[in-house]
Amino acid sequence: MADTKGLIVVTGAGGFIGGALLSSLRGRGFPLRGVDVKPLDDWYQRFDDVENLSLDLNLKENCELAARGANDIYNLAANMGGMGFIEHNKALCMLSVLINTHMLQAALEAGAKRFFYSSSACVYNGDKQKTFEAPSLKEEDAYPALAEDGYGWEKLFSERMCRHFREDFGLYTRVARFHNVYGPWGTWYGGREKAPAAICRKAIEAKLSGRHEIEIWGTGNQTRSFMFIDDCIQGIRRIMESEILEPINLGSSEAVTINQLVDLAESFAGIKLKRNYDLSAPKGVNGRNSDNTLIQKYLQWEPDTSLRAGLEKTYRWIYDQYQARERGEPGVVREVASAR
Ligand code: NAD
Repeated sequence: MADTKGLIVVTGAGGFIGGALLSSLRGRGFPLRGVDVKPLDDWYQRFDDVENLSLDLNLKENCELAARGANDIYNLAANMGGMGFIEHNKALCMLSVLINTHMLQAALEAGAKRFFYSSSACVYNGDKQKTFEAPSLKEEDAYPALAEDGYGWEKLFSERMCRHFREDFGLYTRVARFHNVYGPWGTWYGGREKAPAAICRKAIEAKLSGRHEIEIWGTGNQTRSFMFIDDCIQGIRRIMESEILEPINLGSSEAVTINQLVDLAESFAGIKLKRNYDLSAPKGVNGRNSDNTLIQKYLQWEPDTSLRAGLEKTYRWIYDQYQARERGEPGVVREVASAR
C-alpha cells in the first residue's frame, strides 16, 4: 500500500459534493482516496492524483477497504436525489443506513481519527414545515421526530449512530445537516436533480427550443433556501475541525419561493416563460429555511453566497453541458483533471 500518513477518505466521491470536496482537498500534502459505487468513468469529477476506488459501500468488507489507513473519513455516499427521487425510492434511500453503519464500524477498526457524516434538512419534523412562510428550522426542531419519510428517517437514525459511536466508542464524529446544495458539477438531468438544476435546465431547453414554457412542480409557492457548493465545502471543513458535537445546520438562510427561482432562471436566459403548474407532482414540504444562529455562534460564519450569484454560475455551467450533450459529446458531466 502507498504511504497513507494523514490519508483523507471521501465516500460518494463520484457524486456532486464528494467530488467538490476532494477537489478542495487536493494540493495540501495529504494523500487522498475517493470511493464510489459508480464505475470510474461515470464520476462527475475524477483526479489522477487521488486514489479512486469503485466499491459498493453497502458491504462491510468494502467499507474496510475504503477506510484502510484513513486518518479522516468524510462519508458523503448515499442513495439520494431531488423530491421526485426520494418520494419514489424510500426503501432505497433507507438502505443507505448500511453505508453509514459499515463505514462507522470500519472507521473504528481502522483507527481513523475523525469521521464526518452528511445529514440533511429532511430530518426536520414535517409538522413544523407546513406554512409557506419558510420557517427557519433550528437544530432542536428535529424532535419530536417526524422526518421526511424514507430518506429523512435514515438520516436521523444515522446521525444518532454517529453520536453513539462517539459517546460509547470514543470515535470523533461530526455531523452537518445540509440544506439544498446546488452548483456546477451537480446532477442536472436524469431524475435525481434538485430544483435549482432542474429549473435552470428547463429554462435552457425553453430558450434553445423557442418553446417558452416551463413545468413547475406544485404551486411554485413552496419556500426553500439553497446553498452554493463552495459554501457547503467550506462549511464541511470548518465543522470537521470544530468542537461542535451535535448535528448542525449547514445551509443558506436566504429563503426564496420556487417561483422566485424561476424568475432568476428567466433573467439569465433573457426570456419570459409561461408557467404550467403540475399540482400532482412531488413537491415536498411547504416551507423550509435554515436557522443559522447556532453555526454563527460556534463558527462566526455562515454560507453567504447570494442565490443570484451562485445560480448564475450554475446556469452557465448547465448551459455548456447541455450544448455539449446536444452535440453528442461524451462525458459531458465529468472532468478528468490533473494537478500536475
Ligand atoms: P450525489 O448523488 O451526487 O452523490 C452521492 C454519491 O454516493 C453518488 O455518486 C453515488 O453513486 C454514491 N453512492 C450511492 N450508493 C453508494 C454505495 N452503495 N457505495 C458507494 N457509493 C454510493 O449526492 P450529493 O448531492 O453529492 O450528496 C452527498 C451527500 O450529501 C449525501 O449523503 C446526501 O444525502 C447529502 N445531502 C445532499 C444534499 C444536496 O442538496 N445535494 C442535501 C442534503 C444532504
